[in-house]
Amino acid sequence: MKNKGVKVGVIGGGVSGMTTAIIAAKNGADVTLFEMEPRLGRKILATGNGKCNVGNVESIEGKYNTNFSSYILSEYGIDEIRKFLAALGVLTKVIDGRVFPYSGEASTVQNALRKAVEDLKVNVVYEEVFSITKGFKVNDKYSFDRIVVATGSPATFGKDSTKLLSKLGHDKVDMKPALVPFTSSRENLKGLRGVRIIARAYLVVDGVEVCSELGEVLFKDNGISGSAIFDLSVKLARLTGYKNVDVRLDLMPEFSGYRVKELVSEVGLSGMFHKELCLNIMRNFEISKDIAFEIKNYIIKNVKLGPFNLAQIASGGLKVEQFDEKTLESKLCKWLFATGEVLNVDGECGGYNLMWAFASGMKVGEMVVK
Ligand SMILES: Cc1cc2nc3c(=O)[nH]c(=O)nc-3n(C[C@H](O)[C@H](O)[C@H](O)COP(=O)(O)OP(=O)(O)OC[C@H]3O[C@@H](n4cnc5c(N)ncnc54)[C@H](O)[C@@H]3O)c2cc1C
Repeated sequence: MKNKGVKVGVIGGGVSGMTTAIIAAKNGADVTLFEMEPRLGRKILATGNGKCNVGNVESIEGKYNTNFSSYILSEYGIDEIRKFLAALGVLTKVIDGRVFPYSGEASTVQNALRKAVEDLKVNVVYEEVFSITKGFKVNDKYSFDRIVVATGSPATFGKDSTKLLSKLGHDKVDMKPALVPFTSSRENLKGLRGVRIIARAYLVVDGVEVCSELGEVLFKDNGISGSAIFDLSVKLARLTGYKNVDVRLDLMPEFSGYRVKELVSEVGLSGMFHKELCLNIMRNFEISKDIAFEIKNYIIKNVKLGPFNLAQIASGGLKVEQFDEKTLESKLCKWLFATGEVLNVDGECGGYNLMWAFASGMKVGEMVVK
């Protein structure tokens, strides 16, 4: 039995907040959506390099920091998300497992969500929310029967609004930038700005290799970026209590050390890499006297997570132990829900973060009218 006319306040007009608002309004709720920016869904335009990678058809196994997301994603998987988008008029396509709007334009997703919000007569209030009290009162002037916190994270243009729930007893895991370039001292980066390679990148934390990723590495003035580094950054953001982090690059991951040595003598280093990379390898070689070793073990010393304004997501957020994994309702405060990135759920590159934002929004849109 749907609780028609129930007054729902949704804080945050990103993907998860708009999705919640749309489903709740379709279910007959009286929905108010709060957004501190002058427009809804600003972040969507930046996603997937403007193409908006909304999800992934591959298994979600091991793609998130926590199993907390598994139940909701088993109910609202990529097929349900694609159906939800289709109902809003967004056709999707799959490229190498990743799901994108068929148009190849993030604006298609942003416009469709906004239009549905408008068509369903969701009341949009462009105002920053400073307080939520038990009961529920928002900013001491708006009253609701249900509250949904969908405030996302400080990654790129965003805000950490987890403190809204601290007065209601909720704790958080500190948010750290993730899916972000690494910064490093200029050592080992000299002259390399703009050089792109495919390498296997190893994350070395206090001398121990924690994980590795095969993919693009892009050298920058003050650090390294690229898909392999982005994936390592999520793993690093989840760790605490370490002292030093290096990245080891295997510059020829498809060949053994022995074969690399042969190739250097057959072809010569200058025919194998960008000239600036050759110069850096030679500089290291002068110390070690083993060129194959330098190619297989190119070290970028003392890397750090880049700043929030370059990050795609935050690792951290509201402690998931304080929410029901099946309903996303707070265990501390009845009829309070949280969706999307504000929760301590983070996913790897490949559409897993938007998938969580959609799935959690769809679930809570149903729950608020129960
Ligand atoms: C550059 C970039 C590229 C990305 N690419 C991808 C990709 O291709 N695929 C993918 O899966 N993920 C991608 N992501 C991550 C993805 O965009 C986020 O995980 C997702 O948008 C989170 O959705 P959300 O609704 O939880 O939060 P958000 O989209 O951050 O929305 C939260 C909203 O709440 C508002 N808000 C915050 N606090 C308050 C307050 N106190 N009062 C009122 N409003 C408030 C914010 O202004 C914001 O509009 C990318 C992110 C970035 C930055």
